Amino acid sequence: MATSLQKSEKSEASPTSAADIPIQHTDCFIDGQWLPAASGKTFATINPATEQEIAQVAEGDAADIDLAAKAARRAFDSGDWPKMDARDRGRLMYQLADRIEAEIDSLAALETLDNGKPIRESRNVDVPLVIDVLRYYAGYADKIHGSTIPIRGNYFCYTRREPVGVAGQIIPWNFPMLMTAWKWGPALAAGCTIVMKPAEQTPLTCLRMAQLAKEVGFPDGVINVVPGFGPTAGAAVVKHPLIDKVAFTGEHRTAQVITRDSADTLKRLTFELGGKSPNVVYADADLDAAAQGAYMGLYLNQGQCCCAGSRLFVESSVHEEFMEKLTKLTNRRKLGDPFADDTEQGPQVDQNQFDKIMSYIDKGRQEGAECVSGGQRFGDRGYFVEPTIFDSVTDEMAIAQDEIFGPVLSVLKFDGSDEIIERANRTFYGLAAAIWTQDVRKAHEFAARVRAGTVWVNCYDVFDAAAPFGGFKMSGYGRELGEEGLKAYTESKTVTVAL
Ligand code: ADP
Repeated sequence: MATSLQKSEKSEASPTSAADIPIQHTDCFIDGQWLPAASGKTFATINPATEQEIAQVAEGDAADIDLAAKAARRAFDSGDWPKMDARDRGRLMYQLADRIEAEIDSLAALETLDNGKPIRESRNVDVPLVIDVLRYYAGYADKIHGSTIPIRGNYFCYTRREPVGVAGQIIPWNFPMLMTAWKWGPALAAGCTIVMKPAEQTPLTCLRMAQLAKEVGFPDGVINVVPGFGPTAGAAVVKHPLIDKVAFTGEHRTAQVITRDSADTLKRLTFELGGKSPNVVYADADLDAAAQGAYMGLYLNQGQCCCAGSRLFVESSVHEEFMEKLTKLTNRRKLGDPFADDTEQGPQVDQNQFDKIMSYIDKGRQEGAECVSGGQRFGDRGYFVEPTIFDSVTDEMAIAQDEIFGPVLSVLKFDGSDEIIERANRTFYGLAAAIWTQDVRKAHEFAARVRAGTVWVNCYDVFDAAAPFGGFKMSGYGRELGEEGLKAYTESKTVTVAL
């Protein structure tokens, strides 16, 4: 079936356009200073909607990470930050959130420019969530404490929750600002100092956030940002002996390299990795809501979400009716200039991702799945891919097993509860899962038996700063957000006093 995607026009009301956005920060941010890379090298960051260079950015490597790690270590060991009254630490975090809110339009525009996501998402989803996460953790700064423990004998025993130290943070390109906030929020609240490496595809908003942190008064060395590539700058973070912990979001294969590279220094590790999340629609579900949830759960952010509901299981008896609703929604999706107010889908982030997605679309066809929507490049400039649906997919096909990280949905049929839980779990990932049903027994049974860190019932992609997020199996370990996310930046110390 052919799709009838409309190209969106840039409207008069668009908040801005790529040409209007000043690029203020492209160097490394180390110890409160803006520095070029020690090597003098730079690399291009590209506008994925036009394939044109936006700016040259400092290409940090081991030498720059070394400077950043030393600055962060000094700020932690002898600076004010971990010793500061926790309420003042929290107040600085609130001030950073306020500054981001004051600059919400320009930050959203910068995010859209560098990443390609539609401005209405950067402006109305990503940056508001950034602000929310920072405020949530700001409120935690003065509420981190241990417990008193009754032990045998005449002793007074208590625990202290202390910051883990210097946190190395390595993030991907799909939610550049939001991933920065997920990492900075708990680390700063706990009193850690930071060496961050943003993704090479999208360094600009993280660098801008560093400048805003400086302006509101974060002490030098508390936040350091070194742009660069994974195998050089990223690996240097992982190996550096002055860094205590690495929090990483990205591919499981990279996490395997990081695990090996961190062995010598026994760093604390938290990983939030990929997924191939099952989204299960029972015949008794509200099918309109489920179709909307399946549509949004896959196509949000151009399908570039680790928790995308990319394996859609539909109960056979409603398959036809459901597919009609889903394809109708999908074929109406508006692709185009991410700065146009009405654009719902922008380009994929870069040529590599575009090529990978197109090769999976070819593979789906070769394996005998039926492409019922999309399946082509959109336009002739920028990395746009039509929202694509494959029907008649079977469990063993590559498009049902591999994380595609793009707007490609695989639809599989199922019959009955016993079968579906086993099939939902038939993947080495375990990040998220969803079920659509009016039957609470089915919902709770699924929630209990599915091997995933997050389960949504009659909803999808509901995130909150307070609700922990992370994976089972190859989707990672440790949790981000909520109290568990904060604990991942602390060490517990037991103190015993003879009385
Ligand atoms: P993606 O395919 O989504 O880019 P990656 O796992 O390759 O996922 O990248 C996520 C982040 O990890 C990026 O910031 C990238 O530069 C970084 N990275 C890649 N390789 C390494 C590595 N060997 N060591 C540390 N960081 C790395």
